[in-house]
Amino acid sequence: MHISQMFIPTLREEPKEAEVISHKLLLRAGFIRKVAAGIYTYLPLGIRVLKKIEKIVREEMDLKGSQEMLMPIVQPAELWLKSKRWDVYGPELIRLKDRHNRDFCLGPTHEEVITALIASEIKSYKQLPQLLYQIANKYRDEKRPRFGLMRGREFIMKDLYSFDRDQRGLDESYKTMYEAYTNIFKRLGLNFRAIEADSGAIGGSSTHEFVVLADSGEVTVIYCSRCGYAANVEKVPAVVKDIDKKSIEEIDTIQEVETPGKHTVEQITEYLNVDPSKLIKTLIYKTDKEVVAALVRGDRELNEVKLYNVLNCLTLELADADTIRQVTNAPVGYAGPVGLKVKIIADIEVANMNSAVVGANKKGAHFINAVPGRDFSIDITADIRTVMAGEMCPECGSDLVETKGIEVGQVFKLGDKYSKLLRAFFLDENGKQKPIIMGCYGIGISRTMAASVEQNHDENGIIWPVQIAPFEVVVVPVSIKDEDQMDIADSIYRELLNAGIETVIDDRNERPGVKFKDADLIGYPYKIVIGKNAVKERSAEIYERRTGNKIEVTLEEVLSKVKELLSNAGQL
Ligand code: ATP
Ligand code: MG
Repeated sequence: MHISQMFIPTLREEPKEAEVISHKLLLRAGFIRKVAAGIYTYLPLGIRVLKKIEKIVREEMDLKGSQEMLMPIVQPAELWLKSKRWDVYGPELIRLKDRHNRDFCLGPTHEEVITALIASEIKSYKQLPQLLYQIANKYRDEKRPRFGLMRGREFIMKDLYSFDRDQRGLDESYKTMYEAYTNIFKRLGLNFRAIEADSGAIGGSSTHEFVVLADSGEVTVIYCSRCGYAANVEKVPAVVKDIDKKSIEEIDTIQEVETPGKHTVEQITEYLNVDPSKLIKTLIYKTDKEVVAALVRGDRELNEVKLYNVLNCLTLELADADTIRQVTNAPVGYAGPVGLKVKIIADIEVANMNSAVVGANKKGAHFINAVPGRDFSIDITADIRTVMAGEMCPECGSDLVETKGIEVGQVFKLGDKYSKLLRAFFLDENGKQKPIIMGCYGIGISRTMAASVEQNHDENGIIWPVQIAPFEVVVVPVSIKDEDQMDIADSIYRELLNAGIETVIDDRNERPGVKFKDADLIGYPYKIVIGKNAVKERSAEIYERRTGNKIEVTLEEVLSKVKELLSNAGQL
């Protein structure tokens, strides 16, 4: 195509609203435009990248014997009531009514629709297993839509669902998809890791997230420097160290001390001259059922996912100041477990402490020498803290390391949760009725596009991997006023196009500097410059975007050189 006629609205200025590099560059280079918070239009260059990602995903899905279909975005509430997610999903679910006042939602995911389909169509073990997928828009009214395509409210997902006769079948499907995902992210040229994760509200047992390593990522990845263990920080179990437990008689009696105006861990421990590890933080949480107090050591962070799992609740949030005042009779900052009348969940480390500083449920006061079991009781002891870098690997005991990543895909073993609720049963060989065993597997197509930019850019712009670049080559005539140059540029452009290479020609009446800057910003893998030497010496320059390398070739050699470069990059 001729760039003079294309719709590529590049921006010179840095867009103010963009916080992360992929968002900035995708806006600046003319790939996307914002319509509303978390809702974007994909411009012509953007859709080409998306289609290429989708193509790779489709190929790998189909290679594993899965079949594509397309389900509706608008889904009846009825199905969501059956799966009991109409309420659980909360405000993230975009709900609407039709003209008859019937409830619908915009699908954030499709377990309900596909399980209902399977429930009505599959009756016998002979029809199993099945791997079915789609690539479609998803809708989630995210609390904080941000980072451009990374966290949208409308986004594109590939979602696949597996249906098996038994757990063994599910294990097999899971393994197959895990392999397919590994192949996909490798083909996309991403530096990624598959990590153990928490299955969260969706339910089920085993799950892995595929995470592209990037500083801007929202996932904290913890991995072992030695044994290959890698997990989402939400999931990493704390290794409990041996303790030197004193007998109660050895510890002084509990005593109230004044801590006026001191309510952060730092302020209190400094004021009382104790180590933060000798203080217990009391955090008041509200679930859908009750108010609870969660205790972790002063030098630790509470892990809400672990707490959520321990409480087996539907919703969990930090209590507001009013609730805290009601429960503790004190302002925020002085909560403590002594005399508290709500359920107390203590981290294992807390339960093992000999004595500690705790809030006294009284403004400006704390207790010292508070002993778990003696001065306050604990209802549940569990691992509810966040494990940090430098701690012990739960598998081999070596040091754990921390890094950040972007979740681009997740695979889940769902088991029979949805099939039971939506009555997807089958008859086995013995005529016995059993629930179909399910798995689900998602890839954020649009988020993957952003993740690729996070990993592939420099100060001048995007550096697309050849596999997903909007075009492979841009031909840049230095002066369009020079007819000889234009003729040569045009014939090279046509030669490449005829050879099946995705090429554009920058025939705009712009200074060469502007064209080169745009080419770098947009990130075409190869740029062919046709200047004076093309006319005088019949030579051209091929620039590789990733390395900046310049290769001089004769005009006759251009095609074969480009072919060679593309083939080395895994294309052609
Ligand atoms: P997150 O934890 O980032 O909110 P999730 O775990 O809720 O994501 P899944 O339900 O596992 O997401 O969805 C499958 C994939 O869809 C994710 O791995 C991610 O790539 C993509 N995805 C999820 N939410 C969004 C979003 N708001 N914007 C863009 N992509 C998303
Ligand atoms: Mg996920």
